[in-house]
Amino acid sequence: MKLSFYPYTLELKHKFSISHNSRTTTPIVLTEIKHEGLTGCGEASLPPYLGEDQESVINFLSKVKLENYSNPIDVQDILNYTDNIEKGNNAAKASVDIALHDLVGKILNIPLHKYFGINFSDTLYSSITIGIDSGEKIIQKINEAAQFKILKVKIGSDDDKTIIENIRKVTDKPIIVDVNQGWNNEHKALEMIKWLEGKNVKLIEQPFHNDEIKKTAWLSERSPLPVFADESVWRFSDLEKVYGVFHGINIKLMKSTGLAEAFRMINKAKQFGMQVMLGCMTETSCAISAAAQLSPLADWADLDGAELIKNDLFSGMKIKDGKITLPNLPGTGAIKKSYCSAEQNIS
Ligand code: MG
Repeated sequence: MKLSFYPYTLELKHKFSISHNSRTTTPIVLTEIKHEGLTGCGEASLPPYLGEDQESVINFLSKVKLENYSNPIDVQDILNYTDNIEKGNNAAKASVDIALHDLVGKILNIPLHKYFGINFSDTLYSSITIGIDSGEKIIQKINEAAQFKILKVKIGSDDDKTIIENIRKVTDKPIIVDVNQGWNNEHKALEMIKWLEGKNVKLIEQPFHNDEIKKTAWLSERSPLPVFADESVWRFSDLEKVYGVFHGINIKLMKSTGLAEAFRMINKAKQFGMQVMLGCMTETSCAISAAAQLSPLADWADLDGAELIKNDLFSGMKIKDGKITLPNLPGTGAIKKSYCSAEQNIS
């Protein structure tokens, strides 16, 4: 098996702002694993606040020697080896995990949801993310996202009520709010959540800084809406820490190191009685399609990453009438656009 990789820059359709950060591009690194004429494709998406960049990913991937493995089906051995090379580098590890699973799906000639034993007959609606912006811009984004049935709205600034009120002037669609650690007072937070409940808001994501466990537990106990962890939960080992503190978790492949661990996290969270959201960064349809393969297991899906970019290199998962759909193809279901003519249906 041979791993190759190259950097690329995603251009965003709109400037993307959350409570502590704003950007117009997202750096990524694309990976390929080749084996006996088949190619698995993967991706590391690198929003700057997550701590990895193209240089660190390329440096890490240079140490991954897949030539030592002759059989891609040894998925867990290969992923354990990759994980033990160095700590951290979660997105870099995810790019290997996604490419490897894509390759294995192609070898077995099955889509990855079948590989994981998941029935894909009924799929979820995905939310679309609306970043912090001026009232006018937010209305424009909502109009562009007409097919989506659920909005995920970034708040966590002084204008939280104004943002929601502006949205409510044009739509009554259910809203998920993502505070991105932007609040700091638990009493004000509780008051705000009670106000949001009256505005058809369905859940609150990451109200406080990721290490504010006590404050979050206080809020969750009193909150009329479910409180979800995002920045507080990255990998399987974080689950114990958030159990009893949050009602649910947002799992993203770039945090979890890929599909294998995300799958384990979903199952463990369910054992804990927690709800699961499957989320993403701004990513191409390569990583988004990979995540979509697990989506029937989740309670909520926020897989809009490819909708937010101008230069998607892949086709794959599509949102139709707000719902997640996947092509009937092996692996992740993603195909590099220049290879589209080689697209083949599987039996
Ligand atoms: Mg979030």
